[in-house]
Amino acid sequence: MTVINKSLKINTDSHFQIIDISSEIKTAFNEINEGEDSIEKGILAVFTKHSTSAIVVNENEKGLLNDFEFILEDLVKDKNGYDHDVIDNNAASHLKSFLLGSSETIPIINGKIDLGTWQSIFFIELDGPRRNRTIDLVFIGE
Ligand code: ZN
Repeated sequence: MTVINKSLKINTDSHFQIIDISSEIKTAFNEINEGEDSIEKGILAVFTKHSTSAIVVNENEKGLLNDFEFILEDLVKDKNGYDHDVIDNNAASHLKSFLLGSSETIPIINGKIDLGTWQSIFFIELDGPRRNRTIDLVFIGE
């Protein structure tokens, strides 16, 4: 069995931002498979190390991404007497992260990251702009 971890660093430009990281992840995976420890089948874990961000899988369609931002804003009011705002003033960002989650697990099948045709892997910035957001990638397989 092979276990390889890599990380991606991302700088974000705005308070809320959806960034498609599929191609960076595929590049990282291709680098592994060009080396000695290639992985034909297994899993990939994608994990953000920040509690005001999220990792999600969905379709990269502009209207849908607008809709996604709209429902998040609708679900989590920006200021709502949150306890955490007294400490840090970014409770809404954390609460969106709670709802979305900090990781995704994706199958590796036949030497490929087995996303569906319309699926992309997104990093969601919920409290930007920030520098050096870190995403861990762990490839496990054989
Ligand atoms: Zn905070």
